[in-house]
Amino acid sequence: MQDIVKLDGEYIAHTYACREVVLVKGKGCYAMDENGRTYLDLTSGIGVNSLGYCDAKWAQAVCEQVQMLQHTSNLYSTAPAALLAKELCTRTGQHKVFFANSGAEANEGAMKTARKYSFTKYGAGRAKILSLTNSFHGRTFGALSATGQEVFHQYFNPFLPDVASVKAGDFEALEAAATPDVCAVMLELIQGEGGVVALDKEYVQKIAALCAKKDILLIVDEVQTGVGRTGKFLCCEHYNLHPDIVTLAKGLGGGLPIGAFLLGGSCADVLQPGDHGSTFGGNPIACTGAFAVVKRLDTAFLESVTQKGNALRDALLELPQIAHVSGLGLMRGAALVAPYDAKLTVKALQKAGVLLLTAKDKLRFLPPLTISLSEIKEGVKALKSTLEEM
Ligand SMILES: *Cc1c(COP(=O)(O)O)cnc(C)c1O
Repeated sequence: MQDIVKLDGEYIAHTYACREVVLVKGKGCYAMDENGRTYLDLTSGIGVNSLGYCDAKWAQAVCEQVQMLQHTSNLYSTAPAALLAKELCTRTGQHKVFFANSGAEANEGAMKTARKYSFTKYGAGRAKILSLTNSFHGRTFGALSATGQEVFHQYFNPFLPDVASVKAGDFEALEAAATPDVCAVMLELIQGEGGVVALDKEYVQKIAALCAKKDILLIVDEVQTGVGRTGKFLCCEHYNLHPDIVTLAKGLGGGLPIGAFLLGGSCADVLQPGDHGSTFGGNPIACTGAFAVVKRLDTAFLESVTQKGNALRDALLELPQIAHVSGLGLMRGAALVAPYDAKLTVKALQKAGVLLLTAKDKLRFLPPLTISLSEIKEGVKALKSTLEEM
């Protein structure tokens, strides 16, 4: 058998920490490595495999599409993209959808839309986009410019002009930064990579009101929080928020690469032929996978995400090594009491057969939305014994 870890180290660019496990297949919440060992996966590929590994209906729909039509370019329409776009608009109250291939790309498109909206209406000089500190919006230059964490900026200067981060949680700071040259504010309602930190509801409401008053577009990055992750289709619903633009990616395709930005009434027709595009965007296979995910998320399913998320939170809070739990639904962060270390815990837990993430200094839980209560129990039990042995 080929030594995959060795090949990986030799030929794949070293942008990720050394990978020790080679996964070959999965079913539901469990992944299997090349030695036949199974792992309970509480990461879902960083919030991507929303229906778990190889969900039967999802896999069948995708397989049928692969054998029918895999790609057309955007010169032609296809049913999967059109049906998915309609479904996304119906579910969110947004008006139009652009399909991209990743979260970063969705955010790039949202930022471009905001600049064109403003340019068309007010002319040049109103191109500034504000984001928040501790945010994460992706790795391309526009999205990275908006990412409010210096650690991601090292080595890559200069960034996009007129993109700046203001202190998260500080409304006065944002109000002061909302000068007449600002066209958009972009934020995550729960900062995922930033440590599963939820923004305060009142703070977000104030931002929305300020944006409405000044005709500044509000872009909500739901790449991690969207598509059922928090127990609502959009996390915006927890905040009674109707942003001008919402971006989605991660969990949307159930494991296939797809991103999207959803345009509200204010900017539904800003982008016109030639303004934006993507060779792969709206790919029929990715859209078919996403349609299967979105269709699964009915009221009962979303309610179960809320309940399972609360059960996870309650079970975690019973562990004396856990100080507090943040997040909503099945997007949770757990802060460890000193001297426990999140990265070491995740490493030890992997040895015990459970896959988990970190976010900053917290443990991060992003299990498949289809996880069962008993699988949650199993995961927390393994975490308990791992922590006890550390
Ligand atoms: C992961 C993430 C992104 C970037 O998505 P990619 O698909 O990796 O480009 C952007 N925003 C948020 C909130 C994310 O969690």
